[in-house]
Amino acid sequence: MMWVLGLAQVVAAQTPRADILIRNGRLYDGTGNAWIIGDVAVRAGRIEAVGRLPADYPAETVLDARGLAVAPGFIDVHTHIEDDELRQPTADNFIYDGVTTVITGNCGSSRLDLRRYFQVIDSARISVNVASLIGHGNVRKAVLGRARRGPSEEELRRMEALVDSAMRAGAVGLSSGLIYVPGTYARTPELVRLARVAARHGGLYATHMRNEGDSVAFALEEALRVGREAALPVQISHLKLSGPQNWGRTAGLLERLETARRVGQEVTIDQYPYTASSTYALRLRYLLDSISRGQQPTAAIDKYLQVERARYPASTYLMYFTSSHDINSWDGTEYERLGPDAQTQAVLTALLPGIPMVYSGQEAALKKRLRFFDKDTIPWNDYPLQDFYTRLLQLKKRHPALRNGDPCSQFTRLPSPTGTYAFARKKDEAAVLTFVNLTNKPQTVTLPATAAGRFQDVFSAATVELEPQQKLTVPAHGWRVLEKQAAQTTP
Ligand SMILES: [Zn+2]
Repeated sequence: MMWVLGLAQVVAAQTPRADILIRNGRLYDGTGNAWIIGDVAVRAGRIEAVGRLPADYPAETVLDARGLAVAPGFIDVHTHIEDDELRQPTADNFIYDGVTTVITGNCGSSRLDLRRYFQVIDSARISVNVASLIGHGNVRKAVLGRARRGPSEEELRRMEALVDSAMRAGAVGLSSGLIYVPGTYARTPELVRLARVAARHGGLYATHMRNEGDSVAFALEEALRVGREAALPVQISHLKLSGPQNWGRTAGLLERLETARRVGQEVTIDQYPYTASSTYALRLRYLLDSISRGQQPTAAIDKYLQVERARYPASTYLMYFTSSHDINSWDGTEYERLGPDAQTQAVLTALLPGIPMVYSGQEAALKKRLRFFDKDTIPWNDYPLQDFYTRLLQLKKRHPALRNGDPCSQFTRLPSPTGTYAFARKKDEAAVLTFVNLTNKPQTVTLPATAAGRFQDVFSAATVELEPQQKLTVPAHGWRVLEKQAAQTTP
């Protein structure tokens, strides 16, 4: 007995002590092999041994992973982390999901000076490994600005030089975002030329394709062509099919990818890990812009809502807003586009059945267009509209009549003069009445008999008693929002 023990001590003395020993886990090695039950010893940040390790394997800390999966850290290939890495260098959001390496610079948008970017990453001691693509959009913008044309040969050489220096700095490939400005102005040969530079350094081509809806098949062919002509692997970013008319075309797309792979082209895809995508109600935005310019009647909103309901399943709601990243930068702030209707329209878009969105700086009444591809500053000025948006969004959040997708809640359009829009949203006794006036004089709405009762004005907090057929005046470019809570039931 003494002898056996003595031998075990010799073995233990020869095996370097592990910092961490993970016992009895279900080991997935990441190559696609079937799992095995086993142990993993880690020392000085490296895996020292894997398999059925002796019971007396020396270790500082032993973790029992019985019933749990043990896998190498996951790689998140699409993150857009720029600007967040310094805010949260511990990257808990990734670490807790098991992600230990992230790729950024996707969709044509990265830091242009990657050498400096990697220095920043290193000095911030971020918990995850970071790799970046070089964004075609940034390369193009550095040479051509936002010019809507192809590059001259000389310009293209400068773009190639930028890709070359990014690849030398350690970029893992070239990314494109062909729905965005200025990526969308590039034709395929330009992408091929730049992808060839990435190929020389062993990089890949990752693309947010030119189209992810009706023309997705053409967009996919373009991506494959870049891969073939530049001789490098292609990664289709967030492969999707948007628009209900395209749902179900997945099989055809995957078949095309399989065919490409069968004939030897290296092409892979990634996807969002959720089935939904959220999107702006851009059609509504353009419609509301033209209503405020006096080019469309408010009645066009009814037609829009009907069309939207017919286009999407009943459980689908779009994001309604008065400003967004794209709209603010390219079309102008809500004050430029909507003038005195800016807040009135915010009320309308927050309370119609949809998902309200407030864009950065709106609570500061931001009067400038933010730069699109570069970091920009918002002057917050003590948040002049904080109270306005807080009241509006808290109402949306707390009021039962405003909950989307509740089959018991009703949306009723109330008759109102041209240039105004009035509606009731009701759930049992609870109701919200919204009146917006997009004209430059006061307007009077006669309420239907069913709207009678005791309400509270959401913005003035005053109590309002509504008689049947009550007349309500709404100031020019103004709004009234009245709410009624369900009768309190005492337990
Ligand atoms: Zn993208």
